Amino acid sequence: MHPNRQVNVNTESVDNYLKAILALSGPEERSVSSTALAQHLGVAPASITNMLQKLASAQPSYVEYEKRRGVRLSPQGKRRALEVLRHHRLIETFLYNVLDYPIEEVHEEAERLEHFISERFEERISAKLGHPKFDPHGHCIPTIDGRMPKQASKPLTSLEQDGSFVVDSVADQDAILLKRLKAHGISPGTRIQVTKRSPQELSLLAGRPLRVLRLSRALADAVRVRSAE
Ligand SMILES: [Zn+2]
Repeated sequence: MHPNRQVNVNTESVDNYLKAILALSGPEERSVSSTALAQHLGVAPASITNMLQKLASAQPSYVEYEKRRGVRLSPQGKRRALEVLRHHRLIETFLYNVLDYPIEEVHEEAERLEHFISERFEERISAKLGHPKFDPHGHCIPTIDGRMPKQASKPLTSLEQDGSFVVDSVADQDAILLKRLKAHGISPGTRIQVTKRSPQELSLLAGRPLRVLRLSRALADAVRVRSAE
């Protein structure tokens, strides 16, 4: 059902709140504090409280919210958040694969379009793309029935052992970082080997033919990897 019929605020901001809570609660689905949410959305804490109360009192509710314990998605909230995320990631894949958008531009475009496409349009995009499982950043696309497989990856900057790894995903939000990663030839599927780390940067062997790369911490923070075995 359309959120506007239940909560007297616009769909786009409802969707953005639900998506933010989904992202911040992580695979463990822990509760999210209003402070974390305010930071993530760039909104004043007072408006956060106000909106969360509306989302909690909708029938059926989108979230479970207690000021001291933070907020969690209700089953309906989670369903909607995953649906918007599915739209987002399918649109990104479509823009990248079919319309030849550069990787660093698809996220912003998808942020706008994700709220408005119909179920039919979503299904057509998915079929056209051969029902992809991953978007161009390497993130899982939630299934049509609202499931999202967990990805066993870890931040490149958290690696303690040497060895071979494969880039699992790259953060989608920062166009400048994405452009830099692209220039270094780093994208989902790239094999890498960490050869040296310092507080400021990581040295890697990557690509074909193998080259030595030096990534700043900020850049390396945008990359998640999994073991190559
Ligand atoms: Zn995105």
